[in-house]
Amino acid sequence: MSRGPTVAEAPGVTSADAPTADAPDAATVGGAAGPRIGVLALQGDVREHSRMLEHLGAQVMTVRRPADLAEVDGLVLPGGESTVIDRLAGLTGLRDPLREAIAGGLPVLGTCAGLILLAARLRDGGPGQETFGGLDVTVRRNAFGRQTESFETDLVVPPLERPGADGPPVRAAFIRAPLIEEIGPAAELLAALPDGRAVAARQGRVLGLAFHPESTGETRFHELFLRVVAEG
Ligand code: GLN
Repeated sequence: MSRGPTVAEAPGVTSADAPTADAPDAATVGGAAGPRIGVLALQGDVREHSRMLEHLGAQVMTVRRPADLAEVDGLVLPGGESTVIDRLAGLTGLRDPLREAIAGGLPVLGTCAGLILLAARLRDGGPGQETFGGLDVTVRRNAFGRQTESFETDLVVPPLERPGADGPPVRAAFIRAPLIEEIGPAAELLAALPDGRAVAARQGRVLGLAFHPESTGETRFHELFLRVVAEG
């Protein structure tokens, strides 16, 4: 196969600069060939998600305007304050395009406030608070009382408990977290507290988590999300 002059033959380049046989293509270095994942960046913990996604090989961009949505293969709705994110989505004109993109099959991972934004039905929402929908669940906002506003716990995650899929326990941080009170027929349980209460659910390409895996370094939900994106 003719490949033209090699780098070592090019003028001014010493053989020390030549790529070795196993050097990766430029296109795969630094995740440049990974999927393009948007992180909704109106408010909330955008940076922690971006770092984890980049670590897993994705190309990450922030989404702040409707036009940004056309650029991404998948979208993360971060934790933060769902009433604020909802209000800013209205002000930036993102609310309806986001609803349409999610309904149209855009893969989405929502954590905490992000789960609230995905809920088909919301209890204890702020005045006039709306959601984008996409996940057939009923979510109660700020469902844990004052005493347990923030806590960490191990979770029961049925999809990770298949034979051969064992690993360290799934440890997750809950910060003024919501709870999934009902899972409708279109969605399925993804993770539960040790007492059985649902804290994560999936409907096709939409994943919603009540907790923050990105703050405990728990990568398996982001990996699952990237597999969903890769399946197209
Ligand atoms: N309590 C917040 C809300 O209502 C969610 C908290 C979080 O995302 N850590 O949106």
